[in-house]
Amino acid sequence: MLAKQTGYLENQRLDTAIDAIVAVVNSLVEKAGIARDKLLGLGVGLAGIVDAREGTLRHSPIFGWRDVPLAGLLISHLHVPVYIDNDVNTLTLTEQLFGVGQGIDDFLTITIGRGVGMGIVVNGQLYRGRHGGAGEIGHTVIDPDGPQCECGNRGCLETYVSDPHLLRMAHEAFARGEMPTDVTEVDELLALARAGNPAALAIYAQVGETLGRTIANLINTLNPMEIIISGEGMRAADFLEETLRATVARHVMTGLSGNIEIRIDFMSDDAWARGAASLVLQELFKTPLYRSELTPAISSIP
Ligand SMILES: [Zn+2]
Repeated sequence: MLAKQTGYLENQRLDTAIDAIVAVVNSLVEKAGIARDKLLGLGVGLAGIVDAREGTLRHSPIFGWRDVPLAGLLISHLHVPVYIDNDVNTLTLTEQLFGVGQGIDDFLTITIGRGVGMGIVVNGQLYRGRHGGAGEIGHTVIDPDGPQCECGNRGCLETYVSDPHLLRMAHEAFARGEMPTDVTEVDELLALARAGNPAALAIYAQVGETLGRTIANLINTLNPMEIIISGEGMRAADFLEETLRATVARHVMTGLSGNIEIRIDFMSDDAWARGAASLVLQELFKTPLYRSELTPAISSIP
């Protein structure tokens, strides 16, 4: 890595975000000491439904944006090829190019944290689906009468294993007198689990079981060679991994369980940024036959 920089957005307006990205790119080119014409392109990873082929952000739950032609907007400011994709897809690319997914043709990357996401690699290629929405595993339904999800439905996987859910469960445990404090941060819940609080340990065991069932379903559906579990939620791996693995073993069909590797990989924030940059590298090393899959073709740059 030649240079890195972190920026913060003052608000959630699109023009603010565009200006911030353009400023960071210009500053990074300067910091890295490279000539502007050596910049091969910009890769952007975003949470939400991203149509990577068209370069359009279909829906961003975080920003509340819909159908934003983000790649085109950034090209008009930066005059280099711009590639955008879902951030879990870009993380999956990092694993494929530099991480534990190297040389593996069929694998899944599942991230747990504020939400739940998944990147799918089939036959060595990232599988995005028709409009880029493949991998929204967090919104598969566990219980239609379950808790309200941010997506508008009820009882999605996310409402059982994501950080906000853990805090809700902890609050309920506190109300029953099973926890000494009414925790407001996941770090506090983790500290209680480390101290051996039975209610905190029970919450993580439940998460391990729910994730284990989901992963068994995925193995039965897709028969991957490897599953990588990542995201800040895996800081609790010590408390959920055993239940997770036991649940997977219980539910995977006989004949599918052999030779599948489940890895827990703690990836840093840098890995997500590197994944976005990998979008440019991936295009560069594609054979010309496949190169036009993602927008934009260089000739379309204004
Ligand atoms: Zn949902």
